[in-house]
Amino acid sequence: MGPAIARLAGLAAFAALAGLAFNAQTGLWVAAIGFGGLLIIHLSYASVLAAWLENPKLEDVPDGWGIWTDVFARLYRTRRATEQNERRLLDNEERFRRTISALPEGIVLIDGSFQIDWCNPVAEQHLGISLRADQGLRVTNLVRDPEFVGYMTSAHFEAPLVFQPMARPGLALEVRIVEFELTRSILITRDITQRERVDAVRRDFIANVSHELRTPLTVVNGFLEMLLDAQPENGATRQHHLQLMHEQAQRMHRLVEDLLTLSRLESRESLLADEVVDVRQLVREVADEARALSLGRHLIEVDLVPGFVLGSREELRSAFANIVSNAVRYTPSGGTIVLKWREDAGGGRFEVSDTGLGIAPEDVPRLSERFYRVDKSRSRETGGTGLGLAIVKHVLLRHGGYLDVQSEVGHGSTFAAVLPAERLVAKSETSVAVV
Ligand code: ADP
Repeated sequence: MGPAIARLAGLAAFAALAGLAFNAQTGLWVAAIGFGGLLIIHLSYASVLAAWLENPKLEDVPDGWGIWTDVFARLYRTRRATEQNERRLLDNEERFRRTISALPEGIVLIDGSFQIDWCNPVAEQHLGISLRADQGLRVTNLVRDPEFVGYMTSAHFEAPLVFQPMARPGLALEVRIVEFELTRSILITRDITQRERVDAVRRDFIANVSHELRTPLTVVNGFLEMLLDAQPENGATRQHHLQLMHEQAQRMHRLVEDLLTLSRLESRESLLADEVVDVRQLVREVADEARALSLGRHLIEVDLVPGFVLGSREELRSAFANIVSNAVRYTPSGGTIVLKWREDAGGGRFEVSDTGLGIAPEDVPRLSERFYRVDKSRSRETGGTGLGLAIVKHVLLRHGGYLDVQSEVGHGSTFAAVLPAERLVAKSETSVAVV
């Protein structure tokens, strides 16, 4: 402001001097021309400013003269601060959206009438909606499942809703509403398919175990009641009933033993033992047990090469014994069972072939499910718990191997426990290790 006043004062002084030097008229002319010139300069800068304000870009801020230099410099600084703030805001918003988009949950911002404001890609996937096509539409018009619409309109959001959207068969969703303003809410969706599946498996498992225990318990209870009955039984009947109760008690015992084995195998704490297992010796033991179980009804052959495996002797014994006892139990009298151990570059293979009932192809993938039985009555008659192959599968998994089943109905089956090459111990190493 100072220089501008000084400039005006200078001009007035110059006009006064001209008036004194010549005459008053000259002085007035000098003053008029000087002030008129200044006015034109200021008006032209005012119009430059008006033009810039129409489209205020930082790079177009004009240069000025006199007081306008200061005005334009201030404008430049203000504009630059505004642009920086705008950029920061945009960056923050972008980061916020990117963060929400990266969440594993689906997020939908909705207003009081359930209209979609914004949603992330996970919500699009879960609810079958599209931000681009459905922004501004009511979510209850797009997801029309009655439980969902009922939940949204109930206005009771203390507990989440669990439902299976019609548009996404097989998917189980948990939906929550968080009201954060009077007319705005966040709808959060979570994929709980896996959790629901695990719950279903647990429910099935408990139902199966209860069912397995109920039958023998009913038998034992029934006979106990008869024994307690006043009617005296003759010795032979009594012996027969005690025998039947004993069988049922053994059945329950086997079931509980198998359940404990499975739970031990599944628990993460139990580490795999690091023993050098002599497979030939192990298979011979298992074959002897099979002969005892068969009571001479089958021809049991053993065809082995020497082999040593790194792992748990007890677990491998249990897996091999389960496969072999199945072969005995599901092969009618007169059948042949062959036990083999083979090694090649791919690993080791304990193979049990039988000439038994065989299994239909659709049953093969389900054999190692707990309590899955192809032939229910034969399994129970022969003392099966329905858990044998589940144990085999777990043992092999823990050793990095797998169960391979080849079978033909009416012709027999071959069950092979396959172990990876890393588990095989070379003969030269075993002479030291086994001592
Ligand atoms: P289980 O105690 O019933 O034998 P497993 O888990 O050992 O239970 O076996 C599951 C089912 O697989 C059996 O119930 C039986 O139907 C079938 N199975 C297993 N091994 C054989 C085999 N060698 N031949 C025919 N069926 C078999």
